Amino acid sequence: MMNPTVEAVLVLQERDTKVTALTAELEDLPEQIEAIEREAASRAAKFDELKNNTRKIEAERKKIDLEVKGKESAIARYKSQQQQTRKNEEFAALNHEIEHAEKEISALEDKELELMEAYDQGLVRVAEGQKELAAFQEKAKQKKADLEKRIGVVTAELVGAKERQATAEKAVPEDVLPRYRRILKSKRDVAIVPINGASCGGCHMKLTSQTVLSARTGEGITACENCGRLVYWAEL
Ligand SMILES: [Zn+2]
Repeated sequence: MMNPTVEAVLVLQERDTKVTALTAELEDLPEQIEAIEREAASRAAKFDELKNNTRKIEAERKKIDLEVKGKESAIARYKSQQQQTRKNEEFAALNHEIEHAEKEISALEDKELELMEAYDQGLVRVAEGQKELAAFQEKAKQKKADLEKRIGVVTAELVGAKERQATAEKAVPEDVLPRYRRILKSKRDVAIVPINGASCGGCHMKLTSQTVLSARTGEGITACENCGRLVYWAEL
């Protein structure tokens, strides 16, 4: 038969562990939801940037197109001026202007072609980006719904776990409880551990034969002389 005090402390420790785990999960869940929201906002912003950059390419191309049209009407003007002049010198000067404008138009049209290609590529990327974003948003929505559901489940579980924790606490002798609580707070993992071989199951240091004997036969509670955790003799 196991020492009843040890048994009561073990039950409490198990229930404490459960409450700690549920509490930690409940604290973590809203952070997980926030992380998804942050990721969604960042992806949406990146997609907007891609769309804006693509629009800018098209706007730039339109601007160049207007420049071309301006130069074309200038050429038409030069040509009509040529028809009206009788001076060879002026005719040659206008010819020079026309050639210059034609060269500029040619360069602008090359640029326009580049921008058209870039715009087409941009449109492909926007379409891909839109699909990716929609897929992510759908997944994020599902994940958020799952996490919100989990918050409800854990909240309810925690209520029950705390009730069971309180019940278990009442079964632990009053002189042992504060000691157990103190050890648990300082060790952060477990306060009561089995003896493995002749060593402490918490810090793994060898226990004195007196401690082992006391844990094995004593009616009170025994502690590891190294780490201070409560130790118990686990029946095989
Ligand atoms: Zn120890």
